[in-house]
Amino acid sequence: MINIAIDGHVGSGKSTLAKGLAKRLGFYVFDTGAIYRGIACEYMSRNLGEPNEEIINDFIKTFEVKVKFIDDVEHVFVNGKDWTPNLRLEQTSVMAGKISPYPKLRDKVLSSQRDFAKTHDVVMEGRDIGTRVLPNADFKFFVTASEEVRAGRRFDQIKGTANAPTYEQILQDLRDRDYRDEHREVAALRPAEDGIIIDSSNQTLEETIEKCLQIINERA
Ligand code: C5P
Repeated sequence: MINIAIDGHVGSGKSTLAKGLAKRLGFYVFDTGAIYRGIACEYMSRNLGEPNEEIINDFIKTFEVKVKFIDDVEHVFVNGKDWTPNLRLEQTSVMAGKISPYPKLRDKVLSSQRDFAKTHDVVMEGRDIGTRVLPNADFKFFVTASEEVRAGRRFDQIKGTANAPTYEQILQDLRDRDYRDEHREVAALRPAEDGIIIDSSNQTLEETIEKCLQIINERA
C-alpha cells in the first residue's frame, strides 16, 4: 500500500491538496480531523459540559468510532450514529479543538487511522500524520503559506456572506489557532523530520498539486 501523509497549518490548502492528489492518483483521501469532529458531536449530544481530563477519560470508555466511505464520501459513525451532516458546524469545530488535545482520546482513534492505511492506498490529512499516525508513510508533505496569504484566501471565500468577519479578525483567529496547534503538549503541529515542506503562498492549487506529483514520481 502507498501512504501519503499531509499535515499543515489552518488555511494552508492541505485539504484541497489532499483531495486533488488523491483524485489524480486514484487513492482514498482520509480527513482525520473528521474523526475528532464526529467525537465532538457525540460529546456535545451528551451535555457533559466543558471537557476536562476526568470527563474525557470516562467518556472514551463509552463509545466506538468508525469511519466508512459511502459513495467515496467519508462518514464518521459514533456508536452507530452517522454525524457527517454536523461535522462542519461552527460549534463542532470549537468542540473538536477542545477535545483533540487529550492523549487518551487520541490513543483511542489511532488504530482506526493506521488500520485504514495498512489496507488502502491513501492520502491521509491532519496535524500529526507524518509525525505520529504514519511515521513510515511513503511521502510526507507539510503544507504552509504565509499568514497573510492564508487569511486573504479565507476572506475571499466568505466575503459578502452574512456576518462575515473582517480580514483583521480572520488573521487574528488564524494566528490564535496556529499558536494552539503548535504549542499543545500532545501531537503539536510540526513538520516530520523527513517531511517535505510545501509553501503554497505563491502557487495556485494546480501548481502545488503538480509539484507534489513531481516529487512522488521522481521518488517512486
Ligand atoms: O482539520 P480540522 O479542522 O477538521 O480538525 C478539527 C480539529 O481536530 C482541530 O482542532 C485539529 O487541531 C484537530 N485535529 C487533530 N489531529 C488531527 C486532525 C485534526 O488534533 N490529525
